[in-house]
Amino acid sequence: MGENRVVQGRMVTPTSLAELIEGGDVMDAEPIRDADRDCPECGGNVLVVGYMPSVLEFVTGYKCQDCDWRETDRE
Ligand SMILES: [Zn+2]
Repeated sequence: MGENRVVQGRMVTPTSLAELIEGGDVMDAEPIRDADRDCPECGGNVLVVGYMPSVLEFVTGYKCQDCDWRETDRE
């Protein structure tokens, strides 16, 4: 099974999904996983990706596959 997934009709890699969530460049991203939750906006499937926006920070990001909803675990 490949690491690429479809989000809002577009194929994303772990890095491009992380950049979508972050709204900017990221240094590194882990493989995409399915979140154990549904999108609060549309009920769609939510993907999770862990990524490093910088060398000092690790963020867990969530993104709906069907709409614009996204979230991170930043405080
Ligand atoms: Zn959604």
